[in-house]
Amino acid sequence: MISTDVVIVGAGPCGLFQVFELGLLGLKAEIIDSIRQPGGQCSELYPDKPIYDIPGIPVCTGDELTENLLKQIEPFHAGMHLGEEVTVVRPEGDGFFVETDMGKQFSAKAVVVAAGVGSFQPRALRATGIDEVNEDCIQYRVRNPEQYKGKKLAILGGGDSALDWVIELAPITAHITLVHRRDEYRAVDASVAAMRELVKAGKVTAIENAKVSELVHDKGVLKTIRIAGKDDETVEVDVDQMLVFFGLAPKLGPIAEWGLDINRKTINVDTERFETSTPGIYAIGDINHYPGKKKLILCGFHEAALAAFAIKQRLEPDKKVHVQYTTTSPVMHERLGVKADEE
Ligand code: FAD
Repeated sequence: MISTDVVIVGAGPCGLFQVFELGLLGLKAEIIDSIRQPGGQCSELYPDKPIYDIPGIPVCTGDELTENLLKQIEPFHAGMHLGEEVTVVRPEGDGFFVETDMGKQFSAKAVVVAAGVGSFQPRALRATGIDEVNEDCIQYRVRNPEQYKGKKLAILGGGDSALDWVIELAPITAHITLVHRRDEYRAVDASVAAMRELVKAGKVTAIENAKVSELVHDKGVLKTIRIAGKDDETVEVDVDQMLVFFGLAPKLGPIAEWGLDINRKTINVDTERFETSTPGIYAIGDINHYPGKKKLILCGFHEAALAAFAIKQRLEPDKKVHVQYTTTSPVMHERLGVKADEE
């Protein structure tokens, strides 16, 4: 069990900035995200696209904003838990019990939900017979590469994840069949070249302009996949397991079960503290709703600042929380780890 002041659900730009605002007030945070990299929509949906409306930064890409936020929160040493979805948030004692789908447990005095448009989940394969096949024959992420040792594997998709795993698993599998609905790949050129080399070497078969249409099984154990090409000709390939990489789509997911006042996939909050209907649970960024809400990063940053003050006040009800400037406050300098000669 990890004990902390605040658990932040979501490591998008607003969740990352929340770490900073809490840190300035001397509060420790643990931040959890279901995807494997921080940055939320900025890194998942538009890493190379320019953003022009971050105050004081005339232009930066989604990735650059994420990198800068990560640098800005370094002094506060927040625990970062990536690739784990928060499934449980419930009041316990004076605070909250939080648990992820990997079984990691937290005890926190407050929770900030910065979950954006929801948790990014893998897009599912649709094919005839899929409901009858055992779940462990069809996987959407690699937990343990060793389990594919000596197996006939099908990998579906044409992006970086699909090709990275083709390259990584080819040496240990019996054979890999890569199935992609186009003949162009959305992966980096070096990965496409490496995959083509594996095809030449006979380790991989690439079936392009095609999709898996049907799964054949024996008592739930996957045996064969039927692959339909452009002109509906079908190829059958015997496989033991399948890995599907069709990208990620956001879903509100478990948040809907945390007893919060939900308004069409968003969480109602007040505009003084950004607190939800459960005292001690706050919501900032794209996930929250209030009159006049705008889903913009700079609005989420403001919300993070006010939520941090509200949390500090909640945890220390007898003390007045003063605004201090980072420019001049020795306490802030100490928390930021700024040396005297930089002051
Ligand atoms: P998100 O960025 O959505 O991050 C939320 C994170 O929470 C996600 O990583 C998700 O995986 C995680 N999460 C959710 N549920 C769980 C759970 N249960 N457990 C664990 N993790 C969870 N805004 C601007 O201000 N300026 C722009 O120029 C701009 N351009 C944009 C361009 C595009 C193409 C898009 C799609 C958006 C753009 N936006 C822009 C909007 C901006 O990206 C969002 O407002 C911003 O990302 C919201 O940040 P967030 O931290 O609230 O949420």
